[in-house]
Amino acid sequence: MQGAQLIRVSERDNVAVVAAEPGLAKGALTEFGVEAREPVPAGHKVALEPIPRGGAVIRYGAVIGRALQDIEAGGWVREELLESPEPPPLDSLQAPAAAPPRGEPLEGFWFEGYRNADGKAGTRNVLGITTTVQCVAGVVEHAAERIRRELLPRYANVDGVAALTHSYGCGVAIDAPGAEIPIRTVRNLALNPNLGGEVMVVSLGCEKLQPARLGLPGEEPFLVRLQDDGLGSFESMVARVLELAERRLERLNARRRVRCPASDLIVGLQCGGSDAFSGLTANPAVGVAADLLARAGATVIFSEITEVRDAAHLLAARAPSPEVVEDLKREFAWYDAYLARGGADRSANPTPGNKRGGLANVVEKALGSVAKSGSMPLDGVLPPGEQARGKGLWFLAGPASDFICGTLELAAGMNVHVFTTGEGTPYGLSMCPVIKVSTRTALARRWPDLIDFDAGRIAGGSITLEQAGWEMFRLILDVASGRKTWSERHGLANDLALFNPAPVT
Ligand code: CA
Repeated sequence: MQGAQLIRVSERDNVAVVAAEPGLAKGALTEFGVEAREPVPAGHKVALEPIPRGGAVIRYGAVIGRALQDIEAGGWVREELLESPEPPPLDSLQAPAAAPPRGEPLEGFWFEGYRNADGKAGTRNVLGITTTVQCVAGVVEHAAERIRRELLPRYANVDGVAALTHSYGCGVAIDAPGAEIPIRTVRNLALNPNLGGEVMVVSLGCEKLQPARLGLPGEEPFLVRLQDDGLGSFESMVARVLELAERRLERLNARRRVRCPASDLIVGLQCGGSDAFSGLTANPAVGVAADLLARAGATVIFSEITEVRDAAHLLAARAPSPEVVEDLKREFAWYDAYLARGGADRSANPTPGNKRGGLANVVEKALGSVAKSGSMPLDGVLPPGEQARGKGLWFLAGPASDFICGTLELAAGMNVHVFTTGEGTPYGLSMCPVIKVSTRTALARRWPDLIDFDAGRIAGGSITLEQAGWEMFRLILDVASGRKTWSERHGLANDLALFNPAPVT
């Protein structure tokens, strides 16, 4: 049994996965009280109870297939023993008779955050400089660097400056279908709670994305147009940006952290550089934390549409209303068409490597990603670029690309980001803390100054999934209160990346 910890994600599961090499030896007694009937390799499933022919094989609390023959307790549930039905077509999706239970409300959990005028709360106090076009990016980055060096030392309560630069704004078909996505993303990024509502905008002047089109609140004086007659030189442009920034910094600096309920959290989840342990350790542990957050009244956002596509029917089964199912169908259908237009295959078919690693079919593979979302009802579906409109669990229907997903979650209002990784990435964001979760202890040891949470301990047997979820929940509250993540300590921040499905001209 040593080195062969079994992981069962849901109490409803009738299989568990052998977590570590060298796998389970024949005759080994597992902690679930069953004896292995045959050797079961690491990453593969072992039956925890007898599964009759035609019986459901349940993993992640969901049916991943039906047994093609009787399987004994302790038997290896191999791919060829599983009938793997194709995921049902989108138009057959229906709201369930009853959504899953919400669990007891969790009371009494708080963090120290910044209260904004619109009622939302920030976890950081950052000056954001919105841009309407890539042409101004060089000037804005230059000005942001000078703000950091010359102004920030005098405004100790301000955490940083984020130049919201991007490649959009001109040379694009700005009225074409799909263009509303990057436009509302730029707008909603400026309204992220960590920027405190202190909007300022730098525009070029002649670009297609005119500032008025963003419909941002705030006063015209906080707009700099580089082509204005009054700005006769590069130096005068930078001076003007610094002058407005200083007035914003004065207001931001006057803010203090106050006690905010956990329900003010908007936690965005994603994975990048996944490995065979993602669906075993890190993602299910994040799922336990997601359930705790939802029970505490917070907003939890998961995304990465191509990775969860083949579990669409299992997301629909968590919908509390027919409207949510209709929203899911509309967004999945839109994305299917978008990929088809580009000649891309939407299928997440397991590779031969996936199958050797123990994944039987597309549904099981998608469920490894969906595991991040826990088990609560799915309260709503967000089209890409829109803001989250309520509490509970939300699905953001956007791409899995790390940079685009992070950007869209920021636009949705994310104030803490949780990022699971197997291969490892130094990913970070300038507007929001990123908690990086490793799927394996080996990665956490190799990158001790980049990984914030080691979910590999679950496979090692030193901590249960439940314990890991609680630990992560508390870490999220600490980070929301100001505890710096590794990427913040090093000042690591990836570029924003807008999702623009419309033509470029
Ligand atoms: Ca990703």
